[in-house]
Amino acid sequence: MAFPSRWIHPRDAKDPWDTFEVAEALHATDFVWTYSLDGQAVGGMKQFGGKVFLAINSLVPDEPGGSERLQGRILDLDGNRVTAPWMRNWKGRYWGCANSPQYRSSYEAYAKRAVDAGTDGLQMDDPPMNVAALRWGGCLCPHCMAEFREQCSRIRLRLPRTQKSTTRPRKGYCRRMFLGTTHATPRCNPTNQKEEAARGKHALWH
Ligand SMILES: [Zn+2]
Repeated sequence: MAFPSRWIHPRDAKDPWDTFEVAEALHATDFVWTYSLDGQAVGGMKQFGGKVFLAINSLVPDEPGGSERLQGRILDLDGNRVTAPWMRNWKGRYWGCANSPQYRSSYEAYAKRAVDAGTDGLQMDDPPMNVAALRWGGCLCPHCMAEFREQCSRIRLRLPRTQKSTTRPRKGYCRRMFLGTTHATPRCNPTNQKEEAARGKHALWH
């Protein structure tokens, strides 16, 4: 029987739950969908005789064990970081872009920590990543746009005349192509003016 504890309990002194007590009551043998990078916790799970599959997801933090999610994130047309609709109220839960070298590096670092903790395998939570984000206005980060241009040239699709650089698609063109409108820009996330001011104008557009 595989037990998905999600996190190791008790999480603090007030937490009434105990992962291992519940696992024992349920006659669990294996553990899946558990967020932990703690080797001692993985050792405790392995005492049940089965396999352990720690969870990894589409929004690993910049550094394993950290809480910042800013590097290599999925961006919308205006350069805002994107999150899943059901995570909008969870502060700073920005999804990572599968085409971003920075995000890949964060992902690998997290996976390595999980393997070092003793996991037998990794369970990918929310696996669609960028494919899911298509419905939320992303991803239009520089890495995805570079891939887009590469694919266009591969299939001999000529982009409309562009400003300055011949390799930069126009904002209006992308609006029509990805969003079906030249007027409204759908936003996935509430506008964070402070963050936008810190980031400055998005580098993709002129
Ligand atoms: Zn991207």
